[in-house]
Amino acid sequence: MSSNNVINLDLAIIGGGNAGITLAKKLAEQKNNLVTTVFEPKTPQQRNCCWSLWATPDQQAELKHCVLGSWYKWRLVSGEEDVLLTSKHFSYLCLSSADYLQHSEDSLEGCIDIKRSPVDNLTGQHDFISQGQSYRAEHIFDSRPFEESTHGLKQHFLGWEIRTKQPMPDTTVATLMDFRVDQSRGLHFIYALPFSNHHLFVESTMISRQLEDKDWYRQAISEWLCNQGIEVEELIREEIGVIPMEDVTKASSNESKIGAAGGAVRLSSGYAFSAIQIQMATLAKGISKGDFVIPQTTSGFLNTMDNIFNGVLLSKPNLAPKIFLQTAKPLNGDQFAHFMLGSAGFFEWLKVIFSMPKVPFIKQAWKQVFKHD
Ligand SMILES: Cc1cc2nc3c(=O)[nH]c(=O)nc-3n(C[C@H](O)[C@H](O)[C@H](O)COP(=O)(O)OP(=O)(O)OC[C@H]3O[C@@H](n4cnc5c(N)ncnc54)[C@H](O)[C@@H]3O)c2cc1C
Repeated sequence: MSSNNVINLDLAIIGGGNAGITLAKKLAEQKNNLVTTVFEPKTPQQRNCCWSLWATPDQQAELKHCVLGSWYKWRLVSGEEDVLLTSKHFSYLCLSSADYLQHSEDSLEGCIDIKRSPVDNLTGQHDFISQGQSYRAEHIFDSRPFEESTHGLKQHFLGWEIRTKQPMPDTTVATLMDFRVDQSRGLHFIYALPFSNHHLFVESTMISRQLEDKDWYRQAISEWLCNQGIEVEELIREEIGVIPMEDVTKASSNESKIGAAGGAVRLSSGYAFSAIQIQMATLAKGISKGDFVIPQTTSGFLNTMDNIFNGVLLSKPNLAPKIFLQTAKPLNGDQFAHFMLGSAGFFEWLKVIFSMPKVPFIKQAWKQVFKHD
């Protein structure tokens, strides 16, 4: 439908990443009559990276086409301690984002169009331009990444998918955090997922305000591999990423934002996949009933607790390994998964709070209360 060279749509989804394509997939399943287009300039392969989550058995079945690895045991390691958690219910899944995106795009065929072009600018609440073409959409859902502030707290990382010369000592355990690495630049850990005997994903992750030079993360990975007695046979792929760990919704006045740009990132961990899945499923359900309001993924309580947690990490980075291990220690695997997913109950929260070093947290909570922002 077009008039005066303007193409009219019922729904425009800007950005076909995790949030945008998941929303489109859910809408396509409804087979509704809304004329919908996804605007995404890059192919799935151009956006290939690892996306991990704690998955229920239902999610494990739903996502099986894009799973790279799956673990029921997870460990956190510091110089002093090694915490191993086991779950029967939740599996820590690592997905190929390219496979997830491709599979989702394929499911839209005949229902929802994908335009391989960027949206250059929104010219009004309903109007935008993509590659010189004007569009008018009744509803716009915008998942373009939010421009991160240069000085904001962020999780930044560089990861290698490698083939190893030596077999992995144990492929049943995912290492979520190994702090036995250089801590001189800020909070730093290695994340390692053994996909099979000779196939490993290993990442150097920092939580700080300042990005490092790429070679700095590469050096950290090389040193860690050397300490584990693992040699690289082949570097299959390298990925880099930056995830803001501050509340982006405060800075964004645009109410049409979905996904990470719409505040779906867990501020203390950088995990966003599961929250986005819930946000998009709820939004699609709402749309089927004529409700186009974007649901919030995190409660004020969770954001406040995460901001306090991040404040302590920033002010006392030397305590960080202890704090992360203390978070995991009092919980069993299932409770830890709930905690990471933001669905922990009152007693899990109490257990974690009581295991924390009290003084820095009380000081930070005090600061938070009187910051008034
Ligand atoms: C490398 C990396 C690894 C991550 N790993 C995890 C993980 O393991 N677990 C987890 O929970 N979270 C992870 N995250 C957090 C991550 O942000 C989310 O899981 C997820 O990708 C966010 O989905 P989204 O749709 O909000 O953003 P994205 O998936 O980034 O999608 C935004 C889309 O907008 C498109 N776009 C950009 N500009 C335009 C434009 N002008 N017009 C139209 N489209 C545009 C982009 O090409 C992109 O496809 C990771 C992030 C990165 C960067």
